[in-house]
Amino acid sequence: MNPLRLEYWAQILNCMAAKSKPLSPEWIEVLVDCPGAQGLYTYRIPPALAVTPGDILSVPFNSQQLGAIAVRYLTQPDLNLDLIKPVEAVISTGFFSSSYWQLLDRIAEYYQTPLMQVIRTALPPGLLARSQRRIRLKPAPSPPATLLSASAQSLLAHLHQSTTGDYTWQYLQRQQRGAHRALQELLRHGWVESYLAPPQTAQPQKRQVVTLTAKPADESLSQRQQEILTGLQRQGGELWLSDALQLLQTTSATLKRLAAKGYLSLEAREVLRVGSHSTAAADQPKTLTAAQTQALAQLNQLEQYVTALLHGVTGSGKTEVYLQAIAPRLNCRQSALVLVPEIGLTSQLTDRFRSRFGERVCLYHSGLSDGERYDTWRQMLSGEPQVVIGTRSAIFVPLSNLGLIVLDEEHDSSFKQDQPAPCYHTRTVARWRAQQANCPLVLGSATPALETWVEVQSSRDSQGQRDEAAQTVYLSLPSRIHNRPHPPIQIIDMRQELQAGNRSIFSRSLEEAIAALPATGGQGILFIHRRGHSSFVSCRSCGYVMECPNCDVSLSYHQPHDQAEPYLRCHYCNHYQSHPSRCPECASPYLKNFGSGTQRVVSEIAKQFPTLRCLRFDSDTTRRKGSHRALLTRFAQGEADLLVGTQMLTKGIDLPQVTLVGIVAADGLLYMPDYWASERAFQMMTQVAGRAGRGERAGQVIVQTYTPEHPAVQAVQQQDYAAFTEAELQDRQALGYPPYGRLILLRVTSPDPIAVKQAAEDFASKLEAIAAASDCDILGPAPAPILRVARRYRWQILLKLPLSALISDLSCLRQHCPDRVSLTIDVDPLNLS
Ligand code: ADP
Ligand code: ZN
Ligand code: ZN
Repeated sequence: MNPLRLEYWAQILNCMAAKSKPLSPEWIEVLVDCPGAQGLYTYRIPPALAVTPGDILSVPFNSQQLGAIAVRYLTQPDLNLDLIKPVEAVISTGFFSSSYWQLLDRIAEYYQTPLMQVIRTALPPGLLARSQRRIRLKPAPSPPATLLSASAQSLLAHLHQSTTGDYTWQYLQRQQRGAHRALQELLRHGWVESYLAPPQTAQPQKRQVVTLTAKPADESLSQRQQEILTGLQRQGGELWLSDALQLLQTTSATLKRLAAKGYLSLEAREVLRVGSHSTAAADQPKTLTAAQTQALAQLNQLEQYVTALLHGVTGSGKTEVYLQAIAPRLNCRQSALVLVPEIGLTSQLTDRFRSRFGERVCLYHSGLSDGERYDTWRQMLSGEPQVVIGTRSAIFVPLSNLGLIVLDEEHDSSFKQDQPAPCYHTRTVARWRAQQANCPLVLGSATPALETWVEVQSSRDSQGQRDEAAQTVYLSLPSRIHNRPHPPIQIIDMRQELQAGNRSIFSRSLEEAIAALPATGGQGILFIHRRGHSSFVSCRSCGYVMECPNCDVSLSYHQPHDQAEPYLRCHYCNHYQSHPSRCPECASPYLKNFGSGTQRVVSEIAKQFPTLRCLRFDSDTTRRKGSHRALLTRFAQGEADLLVGTQMLTKGIDLPQVTLVGIVAADGLLYMPDYWASERAFQMMTQVAGRAGRGERAGQVIVQTYTPEHPAVQAVQQQDYAAFTEAELQDRQALGYPPYGRLILLRVTSPDPIAVKQAAEDFASKLEAIAAASDCDILGPAPAPILRVARRYRWQILLKLPLSALISDLSCLRQHCPDRVSLTIDVDPLNLS
């Protein structure tokens, strides 16, 4: 053996020993990749290892070595220190930035949820399992055999056999016993290293594509075949097979027959796994209107963290402003995150982004398969600038170098997660993220949430004060593109319809407008409030609504089963009464609970207008992947005269040929049993109304209601956001509701109806001590409006706190939670049912 080489190795070993620093943190909590493993586990950080939160580690767990993510340092483990095992190795550093974990920690704390649950929400499932550990030779001269144990030599020999000098750790373990100790030895000497395999390049997915190859003008074709070919032609001559089946309402067999005749070709083509997309044509930035130009200029000036409200009426061109605000940031190699309420409805928006930014756009939402979510994640970790469009969970994507966050339709309540915990609001988390990334956050809406509005106001009032970060910049797009007029909004008093002998769910005006559609060539949208929740009781003769004597909310209608006596209940204070047979106000017998689902409306249309073509758009008809887009495309192509749907219709649909919008029963919206029913009703009605008259032809909006004098209905008709908010905010302030106070909802559930009530009462009495200290009101406990869901009984307690109150840590309540009872804490709840 050459003595010089021996010296060389001795030097290396010395260097390595000198590198260890005893001062670094001693313990780390990690997330272990093991199906049964709950919670975080504590490990010791050996002096020789530098472990940072966000690293991927290998740790001993039971008798195995498992992958793990370093989550946070621990200063004082409350465990027997002798039992804490050491981290074995750092497989990959900086997989997540450490600020990412700070964000998750902050969410856990604010939303009173264990960190583990936040992590489960944030990370795609199977993230660790899919990240494979590999071992490779370091580019150093081979060590002298005498220094190594036999098993280490054998492991080295294996690695030398590999042409690339590396293997998966799994493979090596299978090759020899004691591989683990051998690896330790080699790692210690620095002759091999372990690393995380890049994501396996997904097998390119192939999909069938249908292409038109000949003009559909042949006598031998049936009429149906002709229709299919013309349909395909209208779609640009090419469709994915699955889209073709839906859009053309045909079968594979029919298409194959047409292919055999030479009209079509059917072939497999590769698709990118990350977000399938339509063939959107490239698109140029539009010349902006004066208002858009001004808004954009202000946005472009924002360099640091600040919130900007882009308040633009429906159809005012907000999306174009987002696009042009993102472009320069992408050019500076920054990424952008665009959050939208529901992905199914964003196919139009996504297409616009794709045609502007091409492949740099990627989608992230819960509709993706686990594999797709994982791929998207890994792609983002690469650090390449991109635009991610996604629903609320996309706020957790690991984009580095964020230049802008956009929350489109920021008022939308689907940005709030009801369950499972953490019950986070995307807007709140987006704020924290923007703060961390020190980038602007743009909130866009035609009907900003009152909370956002109040911030803008107080920002204006405090102009010039020092706290810049708390400022909210106000940007306004006050008119529609091309100055298209807003459609006139007609309010129909359904009480008068009844007096005039009309018992139909359609008023005479709406009936006329629907009947006129085919002649004018326009299309209509009928909006119905979602089913199951329109459970208040009102008088069809005088409009009187049954309300709770103690609270400012409507009573909910209950009828456990067909033969049971119906009764009314308040879900804030638990007031109970039987269902009166006559109206307490006018003694009319027409005191009814509301409920007119989409199905009922569609069948009514079929009865009254047998020739009208009608499409139903609700959670039943849009359950399948891609069906939102397919339904909307069919409607956009004029395959139906009417689209009948639930609140999914409120969001961002830009269809120029829609001339009529009908809100069948506004009352279902107005009397939801919670404090912000009016705000939501105003927002939804304004949004739905905004779908009309976006094209060249003027639009018309008809709102049917039994309470035309309701402030929200009045405000919608006058399109007066400012007046509505002013009145509504006064009410909120008087009652200490958000945004002038805060709410925390405790949901207690159990399969046992007695245990759940008992637990809720126990919690409430424990809360009394906390409440007294922080000037907080306890409402309830009361049974939840929907008492039993999935065989669990639900009770709730509502805490009402002044803004100044410090929110105490309520997680101690969990310790008092009986076995079969579970407790969810919803901070800033929106859904009180
Ligand atoms: P919003 O998001 O505010 O409802 P959109 O961004 O969807 O409005 O714009 C409405 C319509 O006007 C879209 O069809 C869009 O392409 C078009 N549009 C937006 N800005 C301009 C512009 N500056 N010039 C011409 N058309 C525009
Ligand atoms: Zn009455
Ligand atoms: Zn009450």
